[in-house]
Amino acid sequence: MSSIPFPILFLFLLFGTMWFLLRAHQRKEAAKRKLPQREAYLAAHALAAPACHACGATELKDEGLNSGADARRIVSCTKCGQLLFQFTQDAA
Ligand SMILES: [Zn+2]
Repeated sequence: MSSIPFPILFLFLLFGTMWFLLRAHQRKEAAKRKLPQREAYLAAHALAAPACHACGATELKDEGLNSGADARRIVSCTKCGQLLFQFTQDAA
């Protein structure tokens, strides 16, 4: 171990950390794209109105898939952060 110069070890750890963070981010983005549509989500959890299936909260937030104004909306729970479903906003 002492034969590896410190800067090399530092860079190795830095790139390793960056790679890990990038992979975690990509996994989260892939999970968003795989979320069920609103109707399928309501049917799967036998809900009449959108609510969190994990904690039961009805306060949900939606955000654009790629940007804030994206028509594809990703809905998550404001209480526990669980990703719930996606829907496509009508173009206004
Ligand atoms: Zn929740």
